[in-house]
Amino acid sequence: MSMVAEANDVVVIIGAGIIGIACAHYLVADGRKVVVLDKGTVAGACSHGNCGHVIPSHVLPLNSPDAFRAGIMSLFDPNAPFRVKPQLKPSFLHWMVQFARHCTKAHMLAGAKHLKTILDSSYDEFEALVSQDDFDCDWKQSGLTYVFQSQKAFDAFEKTNALLTERFGVEADVMAGDKLSAFDPALKPGLAGGFFYKKDALLRPDLLAKSWTDQLRRKGVEFIEHCEVQEIEKDSAKIKLVKTSKGNFNTSEVILAAGALCGKLASVFGCNIPVIPGKGYSVTIPRPALCPKTSLVLSEKNVAITPFSDGLRFGSMMEFVGYDDSVPDHRVRQLTESADAYLDINPNVSKGKPWFGWRPMTWDSLPMIGRLPNLTNAAIATGHGMLGVMLAPATGRLIAEILGERPCHISDAPFSPARFIH
Ligand SMILES: Cc1cc2nc3c(=O)[nH]c(=O)nc-3n(C[C@H](O)[C@H](O)[C@H](O)COP(=O)(O)OP(=O)(O)OC[C@H]3O[C@@H](n4cnc5c(N)ncnc54)[C@H](O)[C@@H]3O)c2cc1C
Repeated sequence: MSMVAEANDVVVIIGAGIIGIACAHYLVADGRKVVVLDKGTVAGACSHGNCGHVIPSHVLPLNSPDAFRAGIMSLFDPNAPFRVKPQLKPSFLHWMVQFARHCTKAHMLAGAKHLKTILDSSYDEFEALVSQDDFDCDWKQSGLTYVFQSQKAFDAFEKTNALLTERFGVEADVMAGDKLSAFDPALKPGLAGGFFYKKDALLRPDLLAKSWTDQLRRKGVEFIEHCEVQEIEKDSAKIKLVKTSKGNFNTSEVILAAGALCGKLASVFGCNIPVIPGKGYSVTIPRPALCPKTSLVLSEKNVAITPFSDGLRFGSMMEFVGYDDSVPDHRVRQLTESADAYLDINPNVSKGKPWFGWRPMTWDSLPMIGRLPNLTNAAIATGHGMLGVMLAPATGRLIAEILGERPCHISDAPFSPARFIH
């Protein structure tokens, strides 16, 4: 048992994904002692092979009338990027019914307003973080371009772009036809056009986690790997002991940041945590000679592309298939083949590194950040869905403010766990 873990005034964070790491950062800045426990390795789960986009343009949540339609259609198409595999589990059915109920324009716009606030806050925090000398995560403010093969889809996106600009102040440079391939020679001539969001940034998620944890270790944060939290011991509504595969940890406060697995810890924490996995895939190939100069979304295929300094990552899919950990070949092939129509590159697929991750999904597409109502010394930080990397700094800052009983820098009300747990 570690020295830190024996003390009583320790904040125990369950989960060393990017959210647990960010919470540790802001708590240690507040002078708290922090230990982070992970059943696997640091940032070895969903925070490892994601696309690394930090894009404040991404304000529209998954809940939209289109998502509902896509979910229904996917029942008949195993290759659909958005796919729901029907399951009879009551918790899954309840989640899906709630998700469907929230797929309205009104919910989408309300969610977008809250996401905009937390995305902007997180972006500012990121800029401060990555400007430190010892912080190396391949951060680039090179923008993101939505590219369209068909004129119809390009024209239709103009409506979304107008909504983003008018309601949320998110502006794009619009490039029609040949202007697009002139802008980025890696894109094939003949595409209908693109929308370039220049403020958007990218980073390498694994390097981010490494730089951040190296820095936190130097500040005294302890990361304990292969340490699975199995039970908690309470005195009335107060957690006294966190019981793990590596022994027991005394604690003054517990932060549950176990990503998509938070849902599985619901019975341990004695409350309903409606977070389910939204499975996605990525494949990373060596950087081609002619590499896209911005991050891309291949719009008709729903595939995101990130040009790192030493590689090119393709990521996509949102599968509601339970805690399935397979990586089917056809899904990986789908990722690279989607590039054929858009990119003038010849991806070296044989050298590609396939990966999957379970995004922690809530049915309203907003994260859960705040105290658990049924316990006096526990908080939760999860449910970031497709935006966990982007929202990590603002989430960590909110958690530190809530534990420190200070006013929050942005309203925490929209993210309150109390909307699910009464
Ligand atoms: C294909 C794909 C692309 C993506 N692209 C982006 C992107 O471009 N930008 C972006 O912002 N987000 C992106 N995301 C989403 C992002 O990856 C997630 O939102 C984020 O990684 C979630 O972080 P987390 O810390 O909550 O969860 P995780 O990274 O999953 O960490 C949770 C940790 O908790 C640990 N844990 C679980 N149970 C226990 C237990 N009982 N005891 C101890 N430890 C436990 C796990 O081992 C794990 O390490 C993408 C996701 C996918 C799948």
